[in-house]
Amino acid sequence: MESKGSDDDEKPFSSRSRRNGLKCTVDRHMCSRCSKSYIHAWHLKRHTKFECGQEPKVQCPYCAVKMKQRGHVYRHIRQCHRGKNVYVIDLN
Ligand SMILES: [Zn+2]
Ligand SMILES: [Zn+2]
Repeated sequence: MESKGSDDDEKPFSSRSRRNGLKCTVDRHMCSRCSKSYIHAWHLKRHTKFECGQEPKVQCPYCAVKMKQRGHVYRHIRQCHRGKNVYVIDLN
């Protein structure tokens, strides 16, 4: 009986070196209105929908500061008008 020829399956030496695909620049999603940039697209969407270009809805009762969110006015009053009642004027 003849022995089968040995199949020398030479495995090719993997010479692939791992490439470092690290980029320095991160694609950020920038708002075209106010040039604020966000890492996530949904974040920018939320910004353009709820923040950017929105008219301020509440005003500080003690000065001319207008904000889009109540919480911001509350914070502003606590910081700038200490001791005053914390409330907002609704502009709508
Ligand atoms: Zn914006
Ligand atoms: Zn104020």
